[in-house]
Amino acid sequence: MIGLISATAAGAAARDRLAAARPGRTRVYEGPVRESVERAFAECEQLVCFLATGAVVRLIAPLLADKSADPGVVCVDEGLRYAVSLLGGHGGGANELAAEVADVLGCAPVVTTATDATDVPGLDTLGLPVEGAVAAVSRAILDGEPVALRSDAVWPLPPLPPNVGAEGEAVLRVTDRVVEPGAREAVLRPASLVVGVGASKGAPVDEVLGLIEEALREAGLSPLSIAELATVDAKAAEPGIVAAAERLGVPVVTYAAGELSAIAVPNPSGAPLAAVGTPSVAEAAALAGGGELLVPKRKSSPGGRAAMATCAVVRRAPRGRLAVVGLGPGARDLVTPRATEELRRASVLVGLDQYVDQIRDLLRPGTRVLESGLGAEEERARTAVAEARAGHAVALIGSGDAGVYAMASPALAEASDDIDVVGVPGVTAALAAAAILGAPLGHDHVSISLSDLHTPWEVIERRVRAAAEADIIVTFYNPRSRGRDWQLPKALVILAGHREASTPVGVVRNASRADESSRLTTLAGLDPTTVDMMTVVTVGNTATREIAGRMVTPRGYRWQS
Ligand code: SAH
Repeated sequence: MIGLISATAAGAAARDRLAAARPGRTRVYEGPVRESVERAFAECEQLVCFLATGAVVRLIAPLLADKSADPGVVCVDEGLRYAVSLLGGHGGGANELAAEVADVLGCAPVVTTATDATDVPGLDTLGLPVEGAVAAVSRAILDGEPVALRSDAVWPLPPLPPNVGAEGEAVLRVTDRVVEPGAREAVLRPASLVVGVGASKGAPVDEVLGLIEEALREAGLSPLSIAELATVDAKAAEPGIVAAAERLGVPVVTYAAGELSAIAVPNPSGAPLAAVGTPSVAEAAALAGGGELLVPKRKSSPGGRAAMATCAVVRRAPRGRLAVVGLGPGARDLVTPRATEELRRASVLVGLDQYVDQIRDLLRPGTRVLESGLGAEEERARTAVAEARAGHAVALIGSGDAGVYAMASPALAEASDDIDVVGVPGVTAALAAAAILGAPLGHDHVSISLSDLHTPWEVIERRVRAAAEADIIVTFYNPRSRGRDWQLPKALVILAGHREASTPVGVVRNASRADESSRLTTLAGLDPTTVDMMTVVTVGNTATREIAGRMVTPRGYRWQS
């Protein structure tokens, strides 16, 4: 919940706008400002104060407890010019909140956290729990001091700046093992451990949790590295397991008894077989997603009565991450925020050199860029997948949408199920062009690539014919190049067999790029020699009209009348 506090009429008006923009997420505090701040500080995860920073500093100073527990605080000035992240920039989410508030109110976000301002990711923003000398190591990273990275395995971390490497007095360790961190050592905890849990009906949460903690302690493993608890379907709602997972802050994953019975385990037994239909719950559930059994089944020891819980611990191999990211047609503001986030999340970027140039400034320091020239598609796809399989966080980029006549298919044809794949859609050329032309795609439409480099011409021609016969709007990609000049005229002749010579045709070159141009013509009027590889050509259907200089396809005859 976000607590909102204001003192003036202007502040209250802005407060109400913010509350209206975030329904259900905010709570308005009214009455004396000091009391409001105190109550909100105790009750909310975040505060937005429409007050001067000085006033807020004085009010919250006596309330500050701990970086990990204090709420994030954002201040907005009376003139609505700035949303200042005042407290809890990372942990309290105030930096993000400042950006969000700025967005709603139209002011500028002010963020002073060193790691954000200089584009170096804070250790607490890497998506993994971190402990030890976090401030000292963050400082060393920021100061450009050599910091030694000691990782048990390759994890798909975001890029770390170049001064984080082999050597250094300050140490950044990535491990699931319990270590005694040095004075200048921070420890990142990867989500590598799966704890299989079995429990009799009504097993108390403390018994389940106690068993898990003891098992990890004796094996020298950190509870912060638990990825999930795993059990059999029949125990999905067992209160002791559910509550233990909640306290650990991890999900419960369950498997069918039949699936678990098929997994070979060191310690099968008769009791679970009779109760839930599998000879092993803890070991089998822990092993169901693969990995290495570090702690075989053990039972709780409640003392004085029979044990009600079992657990086993498995370490899973890290999984690399491949993001397939569409950059849109060219303009920076058509790169989606999610695409930007994935570009900054990746430590390895793979792409065509001219696309890399488009977004190089968005990359974080330390990103490894693997760029290659035109024609090296298969090699790029292979490289991206190989880097992900080596455990890295990889972004494979393409213009428009990376899945439309682009890199996603060769990459995923190459990829195995040992990596995670994330797709980020981009604005494809047909849509970028349509927005420039008007509303040409208002009814059924299709994209056809006229490149016969990878597809035989007979296949292309059959598809053009089908679109012509079915009266579907067609956007031609790869319409014409120096070596391929007869395909477009031929395709247009096929369409003209089923549409009037006056059918509108939109030609858009370099949509959303600096030298964008577009024109509206007709099937009879189009001069194919004016079309090149930077262009898409959209041919309307029999209902498409030119209206006020724009290309418009009605949504339907009935709807229109
Ligand atoms: N993945 C891309 C398409 C790659 S095929 C996408 O989704 O847009 C390459 C063809 O796309 C080019 O020959 C051209 O026909 C078209 N194209 C790509 N970007 C374009 C742009 N900005 N303006 C016009 N056409 C474009």
